[in-house]
Amino acid sequence: MSAAIDWRAEASRLTFRAQAFIDGKYADAISGKTFDCTSPVDGAVLARVAACDAADVDRAVNAARTAFNDGRWAGESPKNRKRVLVRFAELIQKNANELALLETLDMGKPILNARHGDVRAVTECVRWYGEAIDKIYDEIAPTPRNALALIMREPIGVVAAVVPWNFPLLMAAWKFAPALAAGNSVVLKPAEQSPLSALRVAELAAEAGIPAGVFNVVPGFGESAGQALGRHMDVDTLAFTGSTEVGKLFLKYSAESNMKSVSLECGGKTPNIVFADTPDLDDAAKGAADGIFYNSGQVCDAASRLLVEASIHDEFLSKVASLAKRYQPGDPLSERTQMGAMVDATQTKRVLAFIDKGKEEGAKLTLGGKQVRQETGGYYIEPTIFDAVDNHMTIAREEIFGPVLSAITFKTEEEAVKLANDSKYGLEANLWTNNLSKAHSIARALRAGTVTVNTRDGGGIEVPFGGYKQSGFGRDKSLHAFHKYTQLKTTYIKIS
Ligand code: NAD
Repeated sequence: MSAAIDWRAEASRLTFRAQAFIDGKYADAISGKTFDCTSPVDGAVLARVAACDAADVDRAVNAARTAFNDGRWAGESPKNRKRVLVRFAELIQKNANELALLETLDMGKPILNARHGDVRAVTECVRWYGEAIDKIYDEIAPTPRNALALIMREPIGVVAAVVPWNFPLLMAAWKFAPALAAGNSVVLKPAEQSPLSALRVAELAAEAGIPAGVFNVVPGFGESAGQALGRHMDVDTLAFTGSTEVGKLFLKYSAESNMKSVSLECGGKTPNIVFADTPDLDDAAKGAADGIFYNSGQVCDAASRLLVEASIHDEFLSKVASLAKRYQPGDPLSERTQMGAMVDATQTKRVLAFIDKGKEEGAKLTLGGKQVRQETGGYYIEPTIFDAVDNHMTIAREEIFGPVLSAITFKTEEEAVKLANDSKYGLEANLWTNNLSKAHSIARALRAGTVTVNTRDGGGIEVPFGGYKQSGFGRDKSLHAFHKYTQLKTTYIKIS
């Protein structure tokens, strides 16, 4: 057995990359401004990070455009791009402990989740798209014998990616890996709460052989750097993950600038439907608890609405509550911790306000509900369960993005489907039953981009992920992600 890692000691030895990464080099913001990057673990300032604005975004987009136009990456054969991306994945793997620590310090998730969840998935993602790119063929259309029509996918050009803080590097990788594999240049804006892993990974990309200008990272605030990317006249497509509210702004930015294509991975309010005929109630209870408390509930497809059949309500809720107790918040740097910190003070306040609202509107608080561990200087909230929730209450309608479960009771299949679909979101739905026909017919009726049956696992990089309704459009993961980063060209040739 390998020796246990002293993560706190490792953390004390870390150096942080705090400058933007543009055209293959680290650089301060042109304005010289920085912002404090604070750890939610204990409130310490980790680094003063370059606060990029429109001028820096312009510099990064110009570098990306120049690199794209001269073909230093787009012009490489798919096989060569594959070699570089596979090397990039290897470097991520080699530096996995450091990257995991950056995620934990920057956004407060438990270190083992960061190491074995996030960073492992990032490695797999980069390797998967690298491996895929020399195995995709284009098309020849059926034509009369005197013509030949080639239908080819070409890289779209300059890809801007604006991402959130809940899985900082993974949400970025879901975008930059397929975009780079397809031959594009990328300008990535990480969330202001969690820029450190993206800034470090840019260096690894360069070390792997991704040429200067092809992968740029501009840390900064949404209203400045994010908006500047959304409105830039020379960005060809903008891939966004974040809230529905900000997603809508990107549609406006596009309409008011150059009509760049926009893809949106936005919020969710996943219904987790548990029928009395569930094959294994313990397994379903574990799914329900993990589904809302993993990453402190800061997950777009968190199973935040538990729809439970009336006849098993008491038994099931007591199973979930006893599992929830294992998620008492602890030190994110300890390997024993199941649930870490909230990302920052703002998010903590927001979640606590939703808890107050739940009580005010008459839901029954059966577990948790309080901020804890204030003595650490960090931000922690207890696992929280509301019972007797009505689907019209605020806590059942709004995305809380915290460890707060809302339990709703139903009596019939029709009622379960109606409640599940009664949401502006449609990212994911989960259902538990041992009746195959019922599972199929309900899966069809659910308006969600992913439906899971008798599991919370919606699959790895090989399946698409994205939303219906106001959860957005476009898909991350799988070969379908290439649709966002390529465009089709028809070449129609007359043969005499
Ligand atoms: P957010 O929308 O506040 O921020 C996301 C990104 O947008 C950040 O980089 C931010 O700086 C930028 N931004 C903020 N305001 C902006 C503006 N006015 N103009 C341009 N850019 C702006 O979201 P968040 O709080 O970072 O993340 C939580 C949200 O992300 C949740 O709604 C969650 O559901 C969603 N999310 C969705 C998925 C998915 O795949 N569907 C995955 C993870 C997170």
